[in-house]
This record gives sequence, C-alpha cells and structure tokens, in this order.
Amino acid sequence: MCATSSILAKWTPVETAPPKADPLHNHSDKASMAKLLTVEDETAIRELLAFICETDGHEVVKAANLAEARVALRSGGLDLILLDVMLPDGSGFDFLREVRADGDNASVPVVMITARGDEADRVEGLDAGADDYVVKPFMPRELTARIRAVLRRASARPR
Ligand code: CA
Repeated sequence: MCATSSILAKWTPVETAPPKADPLHNHSDKASMAKLLTVEDETAIRELLAFICETDGHEVVKAANLAEARVALRSGGLDLILLDVMLPDGSGFDFLREVRADGDNASVPVVMITARGDEADRVEGLDAGADDYVVKPFMPRELTARIRAVLRRASARPR
C-alpha cells in the first residue's frame, strides 16, 4: 500500500485542539490500567498502538503475528486484545474465534482494528464475538476511549 515512512507520518498523533476538561480522560476508574495485547504486523502501527496505550497507563504486550499472539494468550493475564485483521500467518478473525473457544480466555475483550470503509470486516468481527472495532487510521483519543469503555463493560459483566 504505502511506504512505512508515509504510514508513520499519516499516523503520527496530531492534537490540534487545546487540552480541556474531558470525561474520557478520567484515569480514576479501574479500567484505566490493564494488560493489553496488540496484534499488528506493521511495525510502525504496532509501536504507535503500544505508545498510545502505554501513555494511557496500560501495560502492553506486542505481537507481530498470530504465532506470537498465541504465545501471549497462553501466558494469560490479558485484560484486552487489540487485533488487526490482515496478518502474515492468518486472519485476525481466526484468532478471535480461537480466543472465544479458549476456556481460560474466552471472555477476554477483543477490539478489532479494521481498514477504513471495510464494512464487511466490521460485521464479520462483531459476528465472531469482537467487543468493538477501531477504524484505521484512528485518533489516539478515540482509541483509548474505546479501550476504556470496553474494559468498563467487561469488568461490569458477570463471570
Ligand atoms: Ca496487517
């Protein structure tokens, strides 16, 4: 698609509005610190996702493909998974179904990362048990707000 440098330039967080009081940036609730797994094969995007999530107070485990994601899943303790769709060794949807069929991890929230305009991906993700989706390129504040909302819903639901 594009060269990595242009992706990075396009994805660099830009905050044009001055800081203001924002209920989405309330760090006092327990959803504000979680252990996240990011599954994304494009290094620039993976590092950006990790940077945004770490800046928001989360611990981040990074996976560049499904093999690394499976290792991270088995090691346990994940509070949420950020999952790209197109990965070098398979589809994010396949991994989502593996998570949902995994006794220990079936209830871990999954947020799919889909390409802009790819409605079919979003529908398939939600049908396969995704909790939410984020469209690339995303705004950092939208990403962190969606992560916190999903974590809050997950902590409120019965186990
Ligand atoms: Ca990808």
